[in-house]
Amino acid sequence: MNFSVLILGSSAAIPTGERNPTSQLVKYHNQSFLIDCGEGTQMQIRKYAAKMGGIQHIFISHLHGDHYFGLIGLLSSFHLLGRDKALWIYGPAPLKEIIDVQLRASNTVLRFPLHFVETRTDTFHLLFEHERIRVFSFPLRHSLPVTGFLFREKPGKRKIIKERIEGLNIPPAYFRRIIEGEDFTDEQGKIYRNDYLTYPPPPPRSYAYCSDTAYDERIIPFIKGVDLLYHEATFGADMQEVARERLHSTTRDAASIAKKAEVKSLIIGHFSPRYEDVRGLVKEASEIFPYVQAVADGDVYFIG
Ligand SMILES: [Zn+2]
Ligand SMILES: [Zn+2]
Repeated sequence: MNFSVLILGSSAAIPTGERNPTSQLVKYHNQSFLIDCGEGTQMQIRKYAAKMGGIQHIFISHLHGDHYFGLIGLLSSFHLLGRDKALWIYGPAPLKEIIDVQLRASNTVLRFPLHFVETRTDTFHLLFEHERIRVFSFPLRHSLPVTGFLFREKPGKRKIIKERIEGLNIPPAYFRRIIEGEDFTDEQGKIYRNDYLTYPPPPPRSYAYCSDTAYDERIIPFIKGVDLLYHEATFGADMQEVARERLHSTTRDAASIAKKAEVKSLIIGHFSPRYEDVRGLVKEASEIFPYVQAVADGDVYFIG
C-alpha cells in the first residue's frame, strides 16, 4: 500500500526562487493529507501534478503565516472548481475565525461542507482514524502554540499460508479468526498453531512531522522509532544562539532528536533563505545521525 510524502514547500518564513514556504502532501493508499499550507501551496500542488480534489484532510501546525497563508486560496479554488466533497481542517482554535472572516468578507458560501477540528497543543492526541491509519498531534516548542503530526499505520492482519491449510477442512467462518491470530483445532482435536498457519503482518509504518520547534527532548517518546522523521533545521550549527532565541532548530538539533528517538531516517527542511546550498547543512547533521537528507520542493519520499 502506497505511503509517501511529497514536499510542496521547504523554505522558512520567506520563500526563495527554488523554495516555497512549508507544505507537504502525505499519501496513504487512496487518501491524501495536506500538512501545512504556506502561501502558493495550490500552485505547487499543480506544478507537481498532485490531485487537489483528493485532499480531504488538512493539518495546520501553527499560525505563523508561512504555514497557512495558502489556505484561503486553496479553499477558494476548491469552491470555484465545484467541489462538493466534505473537507476537514485541523488546527489551532483561531484558525476557524480567520477562515470565517475571509469567507464572510468575500461573501463566499462554500459549496462543500467544511469541518473544523481544533488541535490540542498540550498533549499527544488522536486526530483522525480510519481502517488502516491513525493521525496524532503532539506539542512542540515554539513562539506560538504548535503541534507536530504523526501518521501511524495500524497493525495489519496475519496472512494465511495456503499450502498449510490444504486438507484441514477449516470452516470458511473460521478464516477471520485465524488471520486475527487464533489457533485452529480440527475435528480430531489436533491443534494447529497460528504461527504455523500464517505469516506475521509487515511491521506498521510511520511518518512524523516536526514543524517549527526549538530543540525539545520531550517529543522523543511521540516519535520513537518512526520510519521517517521530518524535523525542521532552519539554521546551521554556527547559528545556535539565534536558533535558541527564535525557538527554531539547527541541523545538529534535528539530528540529535533523530538519533535519540532511534528513527530509521531523517529529512530536514524549513531552511533559512541564507542557505542557497544546503549540502553543508546535511553534512553537519550527518556527523550526528547518518541517515539524513535535505528536502527540496518536489521531492517524494516513500515510507517503509
Ligand atoms: Zn515556519
Ligand atoms: Zn513558526
